[in-house]
Amino acid sequence: MGILDGKRILVTGVLTDASFGFHVAKLAQQQGAQVVLTGFGRLSLVERIAKRLPEPPPIVELDVANTEHLDTLAARVGEHVDGLDGVVHSIGFAPQTALGGNFLNTPWEDVATAVQISTFSMKSLAVAALPLMKNGGSIVGLTFDASVAWPVYDWMGVAKAGLESASRYLARHLGDQGIRSNLVAAGPVRTMAAKSIPGFDEFEKTWTDRAPLGWDINNPEPAAKACVALLSDWFPATTGEIIHVDGGVHAVGA
Ligand code: NAD
Repeated sequence: MGILDGKRILVTGVLTDASFGFHVAKLAQQQGAQVVLTGFGRLSLVERIAKRLPEPPPIVELDVANTEHLDTLAARVGEHVDGLDGVVHSIGFAPQTALGGNFLNTPWEDVATAVQISTFSMKSLAVAALPLMKNGGSIVGLTFDASVAWPVYDWMGVAKAGLESASRYLARHLGDQGIRSNLVAAGPVRTMAAKSIPGFDEFEKTWTDRAPLGWDINNPEPAAKACVALLSDWFPATTGEIIHVDGGVHAVGA
């Protein structure tokens, strides 16, 4: 018996086997779910990584900035499953000028890209998947605690603050359809997205010094487990929530 037995879950954001998306897909399958992946850009790479899952799932192409991809998503996913019970948003991107301490000089166009891909996309993905979510369901995304200003995270931090708000608005607008929207605020993990942030290793030190439970920067599984729990029926009355999976860093001062 798994906690996702019989559930059909769409998982975005698989790029490498370190991706949060990969670990959510893996645990979801182990917990009994039928998984469909979306892939962005290098689809052959996503296919190669997907073969490392317990059961290689179907992959549909999705660039969240591509209107045609979004408009046809439900039909293309619907070729593999007859509905969806859960959707995982594990997508983030900001141009280099928006990260690494350049906050005061980032041009609007680059901020706009960060917000479109990292923030607005949660709404885009939810609306695109909606025709398949007839019986309610769970939307889960990943944030990096945006209640404070971090070093080097800059406009990605602003985009994440927007994502946290967007998830609350999704909770408000989709609640009457029985659809929950929640986020997992993960501590830092060395994924492709993290490596593209200049100065990301600063976070490593902060988490080593401050996490009451300790923190493994190479382990995406604790946050993936929380995503799977939120996809399950074990959070039936929770929406608009942010669950911190950060070793406890958010809860302690210096
Ligand atoms: P990752 O690089 O493995 O995944 C990021 C994904 O975003 C990739 O699969 C990439 O293909 C996808 N993506 C980028 N642009 C896209 C587009 N236009 N359309 C569709 N997909 C697109 O890194 P990750 O760390 O697993 O990131 C997943 C999520 O976790 C992101 O939202 C990230 O901000 C968040 N997060 C990461 C950390 C961390 O330290 N790694 C911490 C907290 C939250």
